[in-house]
Amino acid sequence: MGGMHVYTPWWLDNKKLDFPRGYHIEYGGGFGMPLYGFQWGVENLNGRYIVKGKQKQPGGYGASLKEDYRFFYGAHVGMAGRGEAIAREDSYCGIDPKVVDKFGIPVLRFHTTYTDYEIKQAKHMHETFSEILGAMGAIITWGHDDGPQNNWGLHSPGNIIHEAGTVRMGNDPKRAALNKWSQAHDCKNLFCVDGGPFVSQADKNITWTILALSMRTSEYIVDEMKKQNI
Ligand SMILES: Cc1cc2nc3c(=O)[nH]c(=O)nc-3n(C[C@H](O)[C@H](O)[C@H](O)COP(=O)(O)OP(=O)(O)OC[C@H]3O[C@@H](n4cnc5c(N)ncnc54)[C@H](O)[C@@H]3O)c2cc1C
Repeated sequence: MGGMHVYTPWWLDNKKLDFPRGYHIEYGGGFGMPLYGFQWGVENLNGRYIVKGKQKQPGGYGASLKEDYRFFYGAHVGMAGRGEAIAREDSYCGIDPKVVDKFGIPVLRFHTTYTDYEIKQAKHMHETFSEILGAMGAIITWGHDDGPQNNWGLHSPGNIIHEAGTVRMGNDPKRAALNKWSQAHDCKNLFCVDGGPFVSQADKNITWTILALSMRTSEYIVDEMKKQNI
């Protein structure tokens, strides 16, 4: 879903890797002159990279600044990796005993951590992106200093807008809130047709699967109503 979405799906064999599952790559970019003072500001670029063989001071003015603008002018491309985290018993959410929203409804509280798998996956992303950008002849201006000290740039859970789960589906009512039809085990007239039933969030974009599962549940509801089961 979405426009202008350039996307590389997962392409490797996990048997040869030190982490399970995979990630896709999303790209952004454009062509233009660096700005000054905000966003892609030239003052964040010059002084950090060698320009025409010289390590210059950041900022600057006059002919030297013009030279930097010319040097950094052009195409820029960014790469973002979106990976699958492994579902684990100790990653879960519950109702917060203290915090409520503005309507007085208790909010969800999340307990989640990363393991070595996700960190190794992020390291793999970092190495892959560096390799591709290096082969393109790019000057890497962002993300190059990610490393073990910041888990290779891995974002906090909840930051990547494709999170799923919380009322996962499964056959065992003790381990899953919903059955395979996204119907609550505890309440037959309750169906959950959003990203909640996902057991795991694969590296793929999520919305088509939400729609497919919703359609499947809708057909099930019609059948069950005809049979007067719900
Ligand atoms: C900027 C952005 C870009 C994205 N791009 C893509 C993309 O290109 N492709 C893709 O596949 N996915 C994309 N996603 C992810 C996708 O949009 C979400 O995963 C998907 O919309 C989640 O659907 P949902 O029904 O689970 O939740 P939501 O769409 O978030 O729906 C939840 C609804 O519940 C309502 N709600 C919340 N609390 C209450 C309450 N107490 N009472 C009543 N209603 C309530 C909210 O108002 C909202 O309407 C993107 C997400 C973002 C944020």
